Amino acid sequence: MRFRASLTAGAAAVLAVAVAGVVGTAQATPQSAAGRLVPADPPAIPGDALMAHVREFQKIADANGGNRAHGRPGFRSSVDYVKAALDAAGYTTTLQTFTHQGATGWNVIAEWPHGDAGQTVMLGAHLDGVPAGPGINDNGSGSAALLENALLLARSDARPDKRLRFAWWGAEELGLVGSEQYLKQLAADDKKRISLYLNFDMVGVKNLKKWRIYKESPDVAATWKEHFRAKSITTEDYQASSDQLSFKSAKIKVSGFGGKSDDACYHKACDTVANVSVETLGVSANAIAAVSWKLAGVKTPIP
Ligand SMILES: [Zn+2]
Repeated sequence: MRFRASLTAGAAAVLAVAVAGVVGTAQATPQSAAGRLVPADPPAIPGDALMAHVREFQKIADANGGNRAHGRPGFRSSVDYVKAALDAAGYTTTLQTFTHQGATGWNVIAEWPHGDAGQTVMLGAHLDGVPAGPGINDNGSGSAALLENALLLARSDARPDKRLRFAWWGAEELGLVGSEQYLKQLAADDKKRISLYLNFDMVGVKNLKKWRIYKESPDVAATWKEHFRAKSITTEDYQASSDQLSFKSAKIKVSGFGGKSDDACYHKACDTVANVSVETLGVSANAIAAVSWKLAGVKTPIP
């Protein structure tokens, strides 16, 4: 993916030279500009791309007894789906295995291999659901938003100042088990290299009126609020109880958004594709892109 992107940049450079030759003015883009890294805002993530992942999670649940819960085949299929998409985009992904209640669980970890690893911004969402239903808003929505954000970085040939790392957690529904395992196995020095953890849970709620911003880190929360305010979207402070609490316990700064209060199908069989709003999910995924690019200082090459 990155190789193809650099070819495109090269082709654009050749084109720029050709155009400059024809026009022959000093205003033409200098040849040296092509490929130069400049700070960038992310391109828009289309709702269709997000819904394609969400529908895949529904299909996985349908084919595996109606759920994607820890210890059930629907969870393993969800892991395989996310990992395959990341691998195809050029990521090196890690499956971290753990055991809980006698069953194997996995965290999927993927890192975009550019930027200062000493200042890692980590983005996480739980990938597991409960046995009662397919878990599409909770948390196929957050899982899809993060997956499409990871693919966007690869497509954009992004070069952040800080390192960006993604995680899809196992067994969150049983007590934040996957994220706790991750932190337990992380060396003290590696923990210090994570400067911020951002969590996303249930980010596709239908008829959502207010985006719920985790209130733990007021400075990061202010960045989210600024993004939403510019789009005339209302926010409120929220105290959530998902995987960011594992990071908070490990003394790592946390932020993010999401919340269950508006979802009538929370942990029920009706948490299907029909329980997700493409509008909400689009706003959420694009907010994640805008804010994470800003926080990590993402630059992209001039085509
Ligand atoms: Zn959840």
